[in-house]
Amino acid sequence: MSAPALAAITVSDLSKNFGHFQAVKGISFTVAPGEIVGFLGPNGAGKTTTIKMITGLLKITSGTVLIGGLDNRKHLAAIKKKLGYMSQKFSLYPLLTAMENIEFFGGISGLPPAELRLHMARMEEQVASDILGQKIQDVPPGIRQKVALFVCLMPEPEIILLDEPTSGVDPEARRLFWNELYGLKKHGKTLLVSTHNLDEAEYCDRIIIIHNGEIVACGEPEELLRQKGKVNIEELFKDAIQEHGQN
Ligand code: ADP
Ligand code: MG
Repeated sequence: MSAPALAAITVSDLSKNFGHFQAVKGISFTVAPGEIVGFLGPNGAGKTTTIKMITGLLKITSGTVLIGGLDNRKHLAAIKKKLGYMSQKFSLYPLLTAMENIEFFGGISGLPPAELRLHMARMEEQVASDILGQKIQDVPPGIRQKVALFVCLMPEPEIILLDEPTSGVDPEARRLFWNELYGLKKHGKTLLVSTHNLDEAEYCDRIIIIHNGEIVACGEPEELLRQKGKVNIEELFKDAIQEHGQN
């Protein structure tokens, strides 16, 4: 039997305490190369805290995170090259235009000017110039999200962590966004995408449901529904938190 492929992300017994409060309670999961994994759970479940620990931005209380087999506390520089991260707030500068944001973030990520110009030209092909010239705070959320994803992808990361990228965007923009994510998967990228919207499970190869800092269900959405005899993820979630003694 051949050895299993090295996981893109391996989270082992990961915890985070904020003072006496335990926001993440010893969770473990893996993301395989080329997978789209949905990280689902209500507000306050621990999604952002977990994702920030994976990026290395937030100190781990206990447990480990391996990125392509490398411990993220020992090999942060190497790991930063592999990871793309889109934070929940998108972290674009609201008073800069889309193009100014692209130029700024492309510059600080060290892209050569010629490459940066190519990226800017690509964005100009995708979005009308009058929108690209407006302050990012004034453009529709769907466009803001598109620009934020574009910025995150410019350094060509292999593994992409997206924290609630679809919150606040309308269903059509959400569908288009997921289409873009499939395009990335086709190009061999690995994606971990958090959402508090359980409906988005259907877009994922696998889902991990987190509640009160614990994983309450994990697997392929269809398979999970079949195993548990449920018709939708909402039902599955309700059952799973009861099983875990959480309400
Ligand atoms: P989610 O992203 O799933 O909405 P978070 O990871 O942001 O959840 O938060 C998980 C829990 O940890 C929440 O109860 C939140 O209030 C708490 N929390 C998050 N950040 C901090 C912090 N810096 N200090 C104290 N508590 C925090
Ligand atoms: Mg969050």
